[in-house]
Amino acid sequence: MNAKRMTFSFELFPPKTEQGIARMHETVTLLNERHPAYFSVTYGAGGSTRNNTFATVDWIHEQGIEVAPHLSCVGSTREETGEILHRYVNQGIHRLVALRGDLPSGAGAGAIGELQYANELVSLIRERFGNHFHIEVAAYPEMHPQAPNFERDIDYFKLKVEAGANAAITQYFYNADAYAAFVEACSKRGIDIPIVPGIMPITNFSNLVRFSDACGAEIPRWLRKRLEAYGDDIDSIRKLGVEVVTRLCQQLLDMGAPGLHFYTMNQAGPTLAIWDALALDRK
Ligand code: FAD
Repeated sequence: MNAKRMTFSFELFPPKTEQGIARMHETVTLLNERHPAYFSVTYGAGGSTRNNTFATVDWIHEQGIEVAPHLSCVGSTREETGEILHRYVNQGIHRLVALRGDLPSGAGAGAIGELQYANELVSLIRERFGNHFHIEVAAYPEMHPQAPNFERDIDYFKLKVEAGANAAITQYFYNADAYAAFVEACSKRGIDIPIVPGIMPITNFSNLVRFSDACGAEIPRWLRKRLEAYGDDIDSIRKLGVEVVTRLCQQLLDMGAPGLHFYTMNQAGPTLAIWDALALDRK
């Protein structure tokens, strides 16, 4: 398989501690040897990680590596959002992942802000900055947990594409059929942007269950049972994780996925184990 034309990317979160920063630097250095299209850096909704996101983006950019800051709009004003965008334009950053974000529960309706949905953020970026940015948006093969139904979720996804999104990254999932059905449904609606699967390596069972419950990603029963049975045996969890996620990636690439986006959780090892097992031809 020649993966030369595909888009492979790695997602990081902005570390807060000296130790976390050192680990992020090491992770970027190791993963960059695989020549990804870009690294993306998450942004806490309501601006909660603002300065740490800037610091992480600045460092990656200074290394001469392509970086895509995430930007969420919920809980922010148009002016605040515009200021952040200006900062990125002045820095020479050309990629963004544009999101609504989730406010912490109990934040209250007053904290929702001036842009309620990601399509409004994409429109604002295009209105103010034309085609300066390559914009990625989020997509949900297993449906966003707050969407009224699958079809409406695709209607709303289409609004982001019509507003000017160039590509999408999906929420993670462990069932390749969910991705195939989603891509087919999008294609029937005339959505023709690349939809890159988001890949979550499996390293820790309880964290995976917690994340998945929060974001609406399904862990298939057979996988949950097998991981659960390993208890505290981290090595066996990781080994099964690499096997299962590598197979998933291979299935996705075989069905024509335009690339892969890895949720690295700032650890190079689990992503590299999958990457190397895939033996992608990137020459
Ligand atoms: P939207 O596309 O706005 O959709 C949100 C919900 O509203 C959906 O249920 C949708 O069906 C519905 N909807 C959308 N548009 C409309 C409309 N016009 N009218 C009525 N209903 C509508 N969160 C962060 O806080 N920081 C991050 O860095 C971050 N990175 C992410 C990266 C990826 C690849 C993914 C998949 C998710 C990420 N998230 C992040 C999580 C994301 O913010 C949440 O999933 C959030 O709940 C939805 O964001 P969205 O951009 O998909 O929202």
